Amino acid sequence: MGNSQNLFPHQHFVNAELRRKLTKQKPILIWLSGLSGSGKSTIANELEKKLYENGFLSYLLDGDNIRIGLNKDLGFSDEDRKENIRRISEVSRLMLDAGLIVITAFISPFEEERELAKTLVNKENYFLVHVNCSVEKCEQRDVKGLYKKARAGEIKNFTGIDSPYEIPSDPNLIVDTEKETVSESVEKIFHAISEKIT
Ligand code: ADP
Repeated sequence: MGNSQNLFPHQHFVNAELRRKLTKQKPILIWLSGLSGSGKSTIANELEKKLYENGFLSYLLDGDNIRIGLNKDLGFSDEDRKENIRRISEVSRLMLDAGLIVITAFISPFEEERELAKTLVNKENYFLVHVNCSVEKCEQRDVKGLYKKARAGEIKNFTGIDSPYEIPSDPNLIVDTEKETVSESVEKIFHAISEKIT
């Protein structure tokens, strides 16, 4: 566990409270969870655009900027998935402290890992959105061709095929991308968080 017993965190003068006065926004972590192809990245992108247009400073953490960089040493075993989420949560925690509205777009299939994220950032800062879409529909979309590969056995432990997706038992919000348009889902999320971020 390293030498954490010899670490003494400083109380910084410029703290979250002062930064909040400067940015005039209240940080929150919007955690999008759902199957591959359910629409997390699409919704996250549009939500970030909407936040930007409304004068909010945000940052989007997704597979592209995390799996390729910070977490490039991690695979998809249960242990690595847990470490992936732990690091994402810790980065989110720093970004929240910096005053940003953070959006994460990761499958995050396990209740345990979502609970870990919630604990690490404190539950009042955590807003879980279940991006709901059936496996059949996601497979039909197959945006990245991954379902095809998983069916062919070229990818192991693929969520929805040979690895489970645990439906969030207590999400703050559910969007249904089979029934809603992208902008309807984005509006729903923006409406739900708008009082929390000001
Ligand atoms: P994920 O990030 O969850 O893997 P993506 O956002 O990459 O999913 O892909 C979702 C695909 O589904 C995109 O091609 C998107 O255009 C399409 N799509 C169709 N309807 C919706 C909707 N209502 N919400 C989000 N995405 C949708």
